[in-house]
Order: sequence, then C-alpha cells, then structure tokens
Amino acid sequence: MTSKPLSSEEITELTLGLNKLARNLWWTWDQGAQEIFHELSPRGWQNLYHNAVAILHEVSDYELRVRLQDPEFGARVRSVLKGFESYMQAKDTWAAQNHPQAKGRPIAYFSAEFGFHETLPIAAGGLGMLAGDHTKSASDLGLGFLGISLFYREGYFQQAIDSNNWQTEYYTLLNPKNLPMEPVLNARGEPLVCSVDIGVSQVNFQAWRVNVGRVPVYLLDTNLPENEQHFRDLTLRVYGGDSTTRIMQEILLGIGGVRLIRQLGLQPSVFHMNEGHAAFLTLELIREKMAAGSSYPDAQKATRGECIFTTHTPVEAGHDRFSVDLMDYAMHRFRAQIPVPFTELVKLGRVNPANAQEPFCMTVLALKLSRAANAVSELHGRVSRHMWHCLYPDKHVEQVPIGHITNGVHLLGWMKGTVRRFWRARLTGPDAPALSPSLGTEWEKIMNSPEFWAHVADPEFVSDEELWSLRYRLRRELIEFARRRLLIQRQRLTQGDFIAFDALLNPDALTIGFARRFATYKRAPLIFQQLENIVRLTRDKSRPVQFIFAGKAHPRDDDGKRYIQHIIHLSKYSDLQGHLVFLENYDVHVARQMVSGCDVWLNTPRRPLEASGTSGMKAGCHGCLNFSILDGWWREGYDGTNGFAIGEDSHAESVEEQDRTDSANLFKTLTEQVVPLFYLRDANGIPRQWIQRIRRAMSTLAPQFTTDRMVREYTEKYYTTKS
Ligand SMILES: *Cc1c(COP(=O)(O)O)cnc(C)c1O
Repeated sequence: MTSKPLSSEEITELTLGLNKLARNLWWTWDQGAQEIFHELSPRGWQNLYHNAVAILHEVSDYELRVRLQDPEFGARVRSVLKGFESYMQAKDTWAAQNHPQAKGRPIAYFSAEFGFHETLPIAAGGLGMLAGDHTKSASDLGLGFLGISLFYREGYFQQAIDSNNWQTEYYTLLNPKNLPMEPVLNARGEPLVCSVDIGVSQVNFQAWRVNVGRVPVYLLDTNLPENEQHFRDLTLRVYGGDSTTRIMQEILLGIGGVRLIRQLGLQPSVFHMNEGHAAFLTLELIREKMAAGSSYPDAQKATRGECIFTTHTPVEAGHDRFSVDLMDYAMHRFRAQIPVPFTELVKLGRVNPANAQEPFCMTVLALKLSRAANAVSELHGRVSRHMWHCLYPDKHVEQVPIGHITNGVHLLGWMKGTVRRFWRARLTGPDAPALSPSLGTEWEKIMNSPEFWAHVADPEFVSDEELWSLRYRLRRELIEFARRRLLIQRQRLTQGDFIAFDALLNPDALTIGFARRFATYKRAPLIFQQLENIVRLTRDKSRPVQFIFAGKAHPRDDDGKRYIQHIIHLSKYSDLQGHLVFLENYDVHVARQMVSGCDVWLNTPRRPLEASGTSGMKAGCHGCLNFSILDGWWREGYDGTNGFAIGEDSHAESVEEQDRTDSANLFKTLTEQVVPLFYLRDANGIPRQWIQRIRRAMSTLAPQFTTDRMVREYTEKYYTTKS
C-alpha cells in the first residue's frame, strides 16, 4: 500500500466509487468494505443499523474528501474498490469455467421474499433468507441469474412486546432513497412502468433494482398514483392481508414478474419458482405461447420445459390454496387472454381435476408445470414424495419426481467480523498453512473451500487455546449485545423497575440459544417442559447454564404468540430470571449475534416438519454446536462427533408421544453430554473435548452446508440439464 496523499482527482474517483459500493450489497459480505463504512461513522453505523447508503448521506462530501486525504484510509478505500471492481469484472468464475453454455440466457429466480441484510427487511423467515443466500452465491459463482420479488414498502413487521408480554406488530416505512436500490428506467430515462390484470382492473407497477454483487434482483412496486389505493397497498407488507390480498400479490409476482422480464428484453433459460407463491408465472408463459400460436397442450409442454420448482415445507398451511370463486374473481381479466375455458385452467391447480369442489393449490400448479421439482433435504424429499404421491397415481412412491437438494447458507455473509478477522490473521500470518495453489490467494475465497476447513482440525494450524479465546470473545460480544438490547426493551416497558443490566447473563456460562420463527411446530418452549430440572441446571454455581431466545410469531398466529408470552413470563417471573432472556425483534442482525455467540444452538422441531432449517448451518463456522432433533439438514449433518442429537433417526406417530419422548431425550442429552463436556476442563481451564467437537463441526459442516455448494448442485442437476 502506498501512503502518498491522494490527488483531488483520485479523491473524486474514490468518492464516486464509495457511492457505487454502498449501492451494491456485495459490501455486506466483504470484510474490508464493511470496515470502511463503519469507520466513516462508528456512531452512525450503530444508529443507522449498518446502512451504508444512509451513512454516505450523513457524512458530508466535504468530510468525506478530508477523510480520504488520510493516506492510510485512502489506500484502504482504494484497495476495497479495486477488489469490488475485480469481483464485478471477473471472467474466470466457476460458471464461466464449468458451464459456459449457460451464458446469455439467465436463470430467473422468483421468490415472494428475499433476506439480504437488516436494512432491507423484506423477508419473513428462513425461506427469504435462503433466497437471499442463493442469490449471493449465484453472484459469487458467476451464474447468469436474476431475482424477482416485490418491494414491500413496510417490509415485514417489527416486533414489540407489550406489558402483558404479548407480541404486537408495528411497521416502518422503507425509504428507497436510503436503501441500496434504484428505479428501473426506460429508454427515455423515466421509471419503466409495466402492468398486470388483477380482477377487472389493469394495475400498473414499477420496479426497483437491488444489486447483489453481479446479480440484479427486481422488486415490483404497485404504489403508483394511477392505481386505486387497495392496489397500491398490494406491495405494502410481506404476506399482508387476507387471501384476496395474497392471491393478488401472487398474480403480481408471477405474472408481473414475467412481464417485467420481457420488458427488459430478457429470455431466461429457466424460471425457478422458490416455493409455490410464484407459480402463476406458468400461466403467463402459457399465455405468451398461445398468443404466438401454440396449442394449449403444446404451450403447457413448452412451459414445463422452462420451469423448475422448489417446495419448502411439509406443513399443510404452508401450501397456498384458493377457492375457485376467488380465482375466478382475481383472474377475471387475465383469463380472458388465454383461449382456454376457465374450467380447464383451474384443473392445473387440482390433484383431482374433475373435482369441482377442490380448491386451487399453488403447489399443485407448480408441480404440474415444472420439468423438475425438489425438496430441501433428503428427509424432506422423502416426505414430499409421499405428500404428493396423489398427483402421480401410476408411479410408485419412490418414483414421484421430486428430488432434493439440501439447503445451505452464504458463508461469508453470515460469518461474523470477529471470526473473519481471526481466520484472515491465520491465513495471511507468518505461519499460514501451505494451501494448494488452485485455491488462489484471496483469503475470503479460500474460506469457501473444504481444504481450508480441513486444516481447522489440525492443532498446529489453530490451537485449542486460540479457539477457546475466540469462543470467549464471541460469547462476551453476544452478552454485551443482549444487555444493550434488554436495556432498551425494559426502558420501553417499565419505569423505576431497576435491573442490573450490566450484570445480566454470565460471560462464563454455557449459553444455549434458540431463535427462529415461532411457528408452533418448532416447539420453542419444549425445553421448559421440565422446568424444575432446567432451573436446577441454571442455578448450578459451578456449571451454570443460561438461555437466550428470540423470534417472531406470524401476526395471526396466536398460538405462536402464546409461546412467546410463556417464555418471556418465565424470564421475568420464574426462577429462571437472570438465566433466560428474550430478545425482541429478531432479524438478520440479531441472528448473526446469536449464532456466533451462543455455545449451543437448540432446535426442537416436530419431526419431520422442519424441511431443512438453516440457522444451525450459520452456527458451525463460529464454533457454536448444534443440539437438535434429527430433522431436516441436521439428519445429514450430524455424524456423532460434530454436535449433539436429540433422539433417534425416527419419530413417533402421535404428537403427544413425540413431545414426551423428545422432551425426555432433550433433557437426557443436555445433562449427560452437553453440560458435562462443556465443563470438563483441564488444568488450564480448557475444555479439550468440547473444542474437539468444535473442530469437527467446523471442518465437516462449514464447507458443506453452504449455498456455494447448493447453487452448484442446482446448476448441475436442474439449471443446465433437462431431466
Ligand atoms: C436463518 C434465519 C432464519 C431461519 O432459521 P431456521 O432455524 O431455519 O428456521 C429465520 N430468520 C432469520 C432472521 C434467519 O437469519
């Protein structure tokens, strides 16, 4: 790095570069880029919730120029911008090397939600996070790819807990000017306007482009003055409103999405439906083909050749079903454009086409009009083949054409800065291991390789002491974060009720975390069924255990809200007080703090309802150990040495029986394995065997359960081959 002061022209160039960088989410998974925005305004970084665009609005041009005159800072900015440019221009990507034929015609990936970063809260849960991670890896791999979703201007709800410990929801308006998004413009430089037919109306929409590395994601937005208010509000909230809103949102997503793609002049090679919400896109593809002269059977066949579908849940309510009346109403104008009787069209959404009473199911539509379909873990594949066997009565259940690709996470996007810096020091320091030259020299890229993670098993590469001090640091950072959050939560609720926040939670204690949507099948309160036993564990002075919980219940899920209420009640009024806390407003940022800082990641779904689960995959690279029912991904990830299993690779038939045995097994494993192993220390206070599990978790899970691996599988199994 040079340390010469920069010229005025260079400073102008860097200023422009930083503005461009802030508007590409690449910065959210590049360590150096994050450090620059953080340093520009440490206070703003915290207050503006890590929003790079907003920070650049806060820091005046004058100040920015002065800051860039600091030769050290200027050199670092230049180096990050150079890294960004070379990422954007790279020619030697995995896709270019392995699938050059896929160039030109992109994969169009449709998802009702995308989770990218805490400043763009348009995901409701794991489905959206997966879509975001899929997109980031598609960019990293150099795949021709674009995303389609909606711009929910009030996003997903923010959670606040009222004085009855009941979840309440509030919404804040997102301001596109302060977000990494830009309007899609037409040739005249004005916002591009497209339209869809909904009910008897023509509804106009515009689109916002979010840059995710090399990949554009387009968010459709009906909030235009020419639309009636209820159509403007279609893009107000994620899954907002009743089934009428829902079907209209899905018409916009599926049909509107294809219309936008055509307006942009694109001819995708594949339309990938991430869950059934987007399945109306198949009807638009049929309409296009029939308008160009195809017969109905030919149009269906050709559409099937272009579409693939990923199903994400075995939970019944997770599959959208609409009454035929609602279909009739919502599709009134659109269906007139397909020269096929409506009674024929609705058959596409029925298991039994002849049953006029059967509602229209989006999953059925997607399955019927895809050339390939997949579930998201091996067990989920099996469950899905049973679930949809009815659609393929001639086939044996094993032959039902639903495969599986196990989910993953975008490793660099989830890895906490503390851990990245730790590995960077290892990989670039004087005793860095000799890695095979094919891995290149960029430490961030190297971290995606199994070869790097295999080194973590080696005490020569990283010692027990180093790993343990990293764990200490991560746990302390989480506890400091939790204290700050709890202080704010209590301030809102009570006056005068003094709690020593500085002393809340113990930085030495075994810290068990649970955070995800509070869907009831995930059974958040299961561990507290044995309340007295759990209280005893938390009170053990020599081997204390503590719990941190977080998560949102769907606004209309009162059972989920009761779970939250129960846990908060325990945290305030039971003997668990001080050893159990609930952090409000779970989101990407809270998730990152928790999966990195907890020692143990608890997961207690009612098997086999957790199709995959991904939060536990985020834990591995931080040395947080999974402690989970053998459902979803953990059934594949667990090998007896890299975490803990609750129960066996099987499940009881009745729910009551399942809850009883799972609760017993949970407590048994916790007291016989988890707690003893964590507190089994040598003379220096180091838990050697625990750290051995951490090494195993890192080397076996971190490189395997990534979207890097997952998107390669999608590419090879589904995107580039016609099955
Ligand atoms: C990872 C993640 C999820 C998914 O968690 P599961 O345990 O798979 O349900 C949900 N929400 C957020 C914010 C996440 O980061």
